[in-house]
Amino acid sequence: MSPAHRPTHPRDRAWVEVDLAAIRRNLNRVREVAGAHVKLVAMVKADGYGLGVRRVLEAIRPAGPFGYGVATLDEGLELRQLGVSEPIMVYTPLPHDSLARCVAAGLIPAVSDLDTLAALHRIAAPASGPRTAIPFQIEIDTGMGRAGFHLDEAATWWPEVERAVRAGLRLFGVFTHLHSADHPDLGSARAQVERFDRFVRGAAGIGSDVLVHCANSAGSLRLVSRTANAVRPGIYLYGGDIGDPANPPRPVAAVRARVVLVREVPPGTTLGYGATYTSRDTERWAAVGIGYGDGLPRVLGNRGRAIAGGHRVPIVGRISMDTTVVRVTGDVSVGDIVTFVGRDGEAEVSLEEVAESAGTIGYEILTGLSSRLPRIRT
Ligand SMILES: *Cc1c(COP(=O)(O)O)cnc(C)c1O
Repeated sequence: MSPAHRPTHPRDRAWVEVDLAAIRRNLNRVREVAGAHVKLVAMVKADGYGLGVRRVLEAIRPAGPFGYGVATLDEGLELRQLGVSEPIMVYTPLPHDSLARCVAAGLIPAVSDLDTLAALHRIAAPASGPRTAIPFQIEIDTGMGRAGFHLDEAATWWPEVERAVRAGLRLFGVFTHLHSADHPDLGSARAQVERFDRFVRGAAGIGSDVLVHCANSAGSLRLVSRTANAVRPGIYLYGGDIGDPANPPRPVAAVRARVVLVREVPPGTTLGYGATYTSRDTERWAAVGIGYGDGLPRVLGNRGRAIAGGHRVPIVGRISMDTTVVRVTGDVSVGDIVTFVGRDGEAEVSLEEVAESAGTIGYEILTGLSSRLPRIRT
């Protein structure tokens, strides 16, 4: 087929469907539980948890969140390019030489140490003309360990933060991050919130204009902070389970692909790289146009399930870069749609099931979906 005659429809091979109404429903659920007075910072890092930040914004923007959370400078700049005018907070520590661009784009950096605070101050200092207070957040480490000013050392760093504010920086927010809010036992998460709350209560200078927040999705739905006025949900918006049977998310993502070839093979036929699978009987194999190059985890070979012809079917053999084979029984032909994540009629392969089969978490499955898959709204 000449290129001009190749199908250009995005659904010719494999794609991700993003259910915008489900994102909105999940977001509304967080709002209901957290309370109407609590500001919502929608986490849209890693290209909207792999679903395509443009797509997820279509669902989230009409809901009017207070702001957005990203992990990197580029992600923040992309949001600005997409016309987001609400506050955009960058949550990972930035290299000092990125701070100027962060500030210039009006993005709000997270500060975890005094060196970064000083670097921010140097950006603020040489202002010619009217100085607008540069906003920043401080992260407080209450047990996550990867970033943040350590709570126990507040006596050393908090006065420096206050000094920076007097010198013209603006304390936009104060936050901590919970490490186990999705665990059955909420003891450690409660202890983190408790320590954070005690600090915020005790620190003069954290006024009601400062954004105070500690809850990810699980925290938003399962915990209450006495001082927080905002929450930062991510995965739950995108259909990820947060370990709370009372709040199952509505599934958002479906990963589907088309059958590109069907064959019937005699017993003893080997399949795929390494010939790790051999047919036991006469079998029908459907080759499907999706592989690890699309983000389908290779570890699902001989292990995962898909839905074909309305039934759950096994993935057989190793997953290749572009092709995955499923063993089918009934009526499956070329062009049929196979579902690797999501529902098809009565059958379901949930995000959690895929994550578990792959030995990982739903977050990694979603963010691993490659740019080869178009993100389609449903
Ligand atoms: C990713 C992230 C979140 C959101 O966490 P979920 O578990 O996806 O809800 C919140 N806060 C910070 C700092 C994060 O990095």
